[in-house]
Amino acid sequence: MLLQPRLLPRVLSISSKPRFSPFSTHASQITIPLPSPPILSPLTPDSDLDPSTQNPITLPLQKLFVPPETQLPGDATSASAHTRVLTGSNIVLGPYAFDSQVVNAEFVKSSVRTADCPSDGLPEFALVGRSNVGKSSLLNSLVRRKKLALTSKKPGKTQCINHFRINDKWYLVDLPGYGYAAAPHESRLNWEEFTKDYFLKRETLVSVFLLIDASIPAKKIDLDYASWLGQNQIPMTIIFTKCDKRKKKKNGGRRPEENAETFQSLISEFFESTPPWIMTSTVTNMGRDEILLHMSQLRNYWLKH
Ligand code: GDP
Repeated sequence: MLLQPRLLPRVLSISSKPRFSPFSTHASQITIPLPSPPILSPLTPDSDLDPSTQNPITLPLQKLFVPPETQLPGDATSASAHTRVLTGSNIVLGPYAFDSQVVNAEFVKSSVRTADCPSDGLPEFALVGRSNVGKSSLLNSLVRRKKLALTSKKPGKTQCINHFRINDKWYLVDLPGYGYAAAPHESRLNWEEFTKDYFLKRETLVSVFLLIDASIPAKKIDLDYASWLGQNQIPMTIIFTKCDKRKKKKNGGRRPEENAETFQSLISEFFESTPPWIMTSTVTNMGRDEILLHMSQLRNYWLKH
């Protein structure tokens, strides 16, 4: 079967044997500094950060996300020296990671149907997550504007697909938060339907960024959401939020990276290979530049094919 080039990232993100990766022949590991020494990220951790998050993590090679057209050293033992893995993530940097900075951002429109979304063909990334996961904070941090995401919180727009144009070149899309107990049943069903319709039909959607609160144990609604995306082969990046939060007794004493790991293992059966993930905090700025670099390489590849 011939792959449609525009759909390639979608296929790659769930394929069990990444076509561009030699990983399937290796059963080795790579150590990822967290977050020092930085491979590409200049960010230094806040001193308030849980020291445990500063230990290097070791990932089996097959758990890395390798973007298209990215070669890894054939010799697995040298992978950690030469492979550029984004700090606090499982994402390998490839040749398409450039032009990542946000220079300007503007709200464009709110749509209630996929058919009403902008039709200029620019690539887009959708942010979605449970209410209170930190979606507005992340959106503001990505565009370095304190209140841009307030637009999406205005009455009448919380249940809409909100498009923000970045550098006149691509879109960040804010989707309605799910799992908000106070939302009327009818409106809940309605947005579920239209966000699913958007995921399935929006041709310019490069990847969904699913936000998961790493300061608490996995919630069923998040697991359901992630597994639906996996089963429907929608490309997805997991953004673990609030990774600055220290463990608390009421959370079962688990650290953010432990919650993140559990979440991944619980959804693994719905994905043929590990989706890309990034640990973030809008308090310390952890993960901000990494998200933008990851978006740039997905976007630039998408644009070229
Ligand atoms: P939204 O409902 O998903 O848009 O969530 P908000 O961005 O409004 O954030 C919900 C709450 O979580 C607010 O009290 C934020 O200050 C807090 N919050 C968001 N991001 C972080 C984070 O990275 N770390 C911490 N500690 N709190 C956060």
